[in-house]
Amino acid sequence: MAEVVDSSHSADSPGVVDLSHWADSAGVVDLRSDTLTRPTAAMRAAMAEAEVGDDVYLEDPTVNALETEVAALFGHDAALFVPTGTMGNQICLRLLAGPGEEVLADADAHIVTYEHGGAAALFGIQTRTVVSQRGLFDTDALLAQVREGDWHTMGTNAVAVENTHNRGGGTIQPLSELTRLSGELRDRGVALHIDGARIWNAAVATGTSLTSYGELADTMSVCLSKGLGAPIGSVIVASAERVAAARILRKRLGGGMRQVGIVAAAGRYAVAHHIDRLADDHARATQLAARLGVPADEVQTNIVRLDGVDAAVLAGRAADQGVLISQVASDRVRMVTHLDVDQAAIQRAADVLAGLLQR
Ligand SMILES: *Cc1c(COP(=O)(O)O)cnc(C)c1O
Repeated sequence: MAEVVDSSHSADSPGVVDLSHWADSAGVVDLRSDTLTRPTAAMRAAMAEAEVGDDVYLEDPTVNALETEVAALFGHDAALFVPTGTMGNQICLRLLAGPGEEVLADADAHIVTYEHGGAAALFGIQTRTVVSQRGLFDTDALLAQVREGDWHTMGTNAVAVENTHNRGGGTIQPLSELTRLSGELRDRGVALHIDGARIWNAAVATGTSLTSYGELADTMSVCLSKGLGAPIGSVIVASAERVAAARILRKRLGGGMRQVGIVAAAGRYAVAHHIDRLADDHARATQLAARLGVPADEVQTNIVRLDGVDAAVLAGRAADQGVLISQVASDRVRMVTHLDVDQAAIQRAADVLAGLLQR
C-alpha cells in the first residue's frame, strides 16, 4: 500500500493519507502544499544546460549568478543558496543570536512549529513566543515583549516575522506595520529576521516590491521550492559580512554543496518566470474559498484555511475522490494552490469539497 506522510501533520492527526486507490490514475488534485509542484519541462531544460563548478570552492557560475540576482531583488549586498528553507532560517537565527540569547517569534511560526527545535538544539538559542491572530503580528504587542536585558533579565537579540504566514493561512504582514516594527527594532538595537518562504506571494498580492520587504530585514530566507516551483532550494539574503558567516554555518550544518548549479538553475528559472503567475494561484484560492463559504478576507494569497471541520474525515473522503488536502489540526484543514493546479483542477477540487461539506 502506497502511503505518504502529510507534510503539515500535527500531533493529533497523523496525517497519513492512503494513496493506493488513485496512485495510478490521472487527475488527482494535490492541494496539500505548494511544495508538491514538479519542475516544468522548461525548468528541466534549464537544469540540464546549467554551467556548473564546485560551489564549496565558490566556482559554480550558476549558483553565483542566482545569489547575485536574488540579493539584488531584495536590495541586499549578498545572498547564499541553501538546500532548504529550514536551514536558511536556522542559519539566519544563528547570525542574529548566539547560545543563551533570545529570538522573539510568533507562537505559530514555522521556526517554532516545523523546525524541530533547531534554534535550541543546534545553537542554544532561546525562542520566546507571542500569540497572534491568524499569524498576523501586532506591532505593539510584539514590541511590548522586546526586552533590553540586564544582569537579571533576559534581553531580546532578534525578532522573527513570517511573511506570508503559513499556519495563519497565507496571511500577509502589512508593509506599514513591518516598516514600523523594523524602525522601532533598529532604534533598540534588535535585529529583524523575515522568514520569507512565501514573500513572493505577499509581493504579488499587494504589488509591493521585493526590495521594499528586503530593506526592512537584517536577514531574510526565501524559498524557491514553494510557489515558485523549483524542486529544491532557498536563498538567504543579508549583508556581505553576514553572508560570509552564513557560508561557514552552512558548511558546519553539512549544507556545503558541490556542482549544485544544476539545482540553482531551476531556482534562476523560477525567479525569472514564475513570480508573476502567482496571481493565478491567488485567484484560484479565492475561487475555492468562495465556493466553500470561507470569508473572502481570510484568503489573501494561495492558502485556504478551513476551520471547524473534522479534518481527518474530510481529508479522507476528499482523498477517496482524488482531492488531497492537509490536516493541520484535528479541526482544521488547509488547501494550497500552486503551479500544478490549473483552472480545471481547482474546479474539480471545489466541486468535490463543496459536495462533502454540503455547501
Ligand atoms: C516551507 C517553509 C519553510 C522552509 O521549509 P523547507 O521545507 O525546509 O524548505 C520555512 N518557513 C515557512 C513559513 C515555510 O512555509
